[in-house]
Amino acid sequence: MDGAAFTTLERATAQDVNRACASAREAFEDGRWRDLPPAARKKVLHRLADIIEERALELTVLGVRDNGTEFGMALKAEAGSAAGTFRYYAEALDKVYGEVAPTSPDVLGLVQREPVGVVGAIVPWNFPLMIGAWKLAPALAAGNSVVLKPAETASLTLLKIAEYAMEAGLPDGVLNVVTGEGAVAGEALALSMDVDVLVFTGSGPVGRRLLEYSARSNLKRVYLELGGKSPNIVFADAENLEKAAQVSAMGIFRNSGQVCVAGSRLLVERSIHDEFVEAVSRHAEALKVGDPLSLDSQIGAINSDRQLQGNLGFVTDATAQGAEIALGGGRILESTGGYYMEPTVLTGVSPEHRVFQEEVFGPVLAVTAFDTEEEALRLANATDYGLAAGVWTSNLSRAHRMVRGVRAGVVHVNTYGGSDNTVPLGGVKQSGNGHDKSLHAMDKYFDLKTAWIQL
Ligand code: NAD
Repeated sequence: MDGAAFTTLERATAQDVNRACASAREAFEDGRWRDLPPAARKKVLHRLADIIEERALELTVLGVRDNGTEFGMALKAEAGSAAGTFRYYAEALDKVYGEVAPTSPDVLGLVQREPVGVVGAIVPWNFPLMIGAWKLAPALAAGNSVVLKPAETASLTLLKIAEYAMEAGLPDGVLNVVTGEGAVAGEALALSMDVDVLVFTGSGPVGRRLLEYSARSNLKRVYLELGGKSPNIVFADAENLEKAAQVSAMGIFRNSGQVCVAGSRLLVERSIHDEFVEAVSRHAEALKVGDPLSLDSQIGAINSDRQLQGNLGFVTDATAQGAEIALGGGRILESTGGYYMEPTVLTGVSPEHRVFQEEVFGPVLAVTAFDTEEEALRLANATDYGLAAGVWTSNLSRAHRMVRGVRAGVVHVNTYGGSDNTVPLGGVKQSGNGHDKSLHAMDKYFDLKTAWIQL
């Protein structure tokens, strides 16, 4: 947020990671957590949620200083959401049953759910607590041990969660957090023979490597939640274009666009293109970008200089390829220092442009005009990603056709970006292969065991 060093962190070596994995393995094998009655595990996870809520303010300030997300958003989306996630899975853990199979009468076929063992979790910097909790809560609820590696630029709140978990009564060794570099600590975790399942949120290139590490080690299952280039499609028949413009602006610019489901491609019906771009730009321009700890700021900082330079590079390339800057495009120099960027709107973007195809992960909106519903659908699906989408229309049949036709894990209709713990979040195509949130997420953390009993 001010570009200055805030603290220093241990850089875990491969040996450190292996020690953490061995500790998690031991804790799993001796049953100190998985063999507790469900009610006892539930109590620990609720207590952890209580502690997170009690210290939400402290956690939020720590997290904002670490990663630069605007305070209001961080309070809700980080501490607030993490507490809710621990509660959700605390309540879920004794409601997940096995099955009795419809076998022949002389056999009893039982399908039992067993915790997988040691879960390795690797998470990014944009919402470390929220995403960390999406992995930790169901993994622990299912009775597993976990070794978690946070991102280099956002480790502090997850280190706190490890402390709070011990305070809440989680037995030693069940949750281990190792800080350090992806290429060292992350790689060691992904290669560990002690890790049974690896869950990851981050970029596509790292996701690919994790699949390789799995193949090179113990064939651990790897679940990937990757990036997106999500289309937000606005038809001229949308009921309230002003509201659509305002929500679309927040759909890309909150947390400076550093949101996996950000609606980063705006597809607009040509007849309303100019007025809609003007409205989105007006709402975006009104957003106050600045010190994320100031309550006046609606948008905070870019996470790192590297990220900022990458964002600016996308703008340069887009204009070189023929796109036009309707708003922003540059760095904001803040008196506090740090990395800030203007909300940026690029028009005249076409599928050949890099900014149409690749995830920026910054405050850059790429606008493309379309003439027909078929063309909108074709453009929506014309990238390798499939994480999220938005559709604005007052035509119910069209809304359903678009929900069916857009290849994405979530399609928002007449809104953008809403979600809660009751629904899964995951991508299709190269946006990933797993789901966080909801009861479906628990499947990743269980093995199925069949008991075939001759009667
Ligand atoms: P990243 O892939 O660079 O890093 C993610 C994590 O992987 C970090 O902890 C990093 O240290 C680690 N890592 C890096 N190299 C590694 C290696 N060789 N082996 C093992 N681990 C390694 O991603 P990022 O920049 O932290 O996060 C941004 C990305 O995350 C974006 O692509 C964004 O879309 C994605 N994301 C996806 C979701 C989702 O739910 N699908 C949510 C949030 C963010």
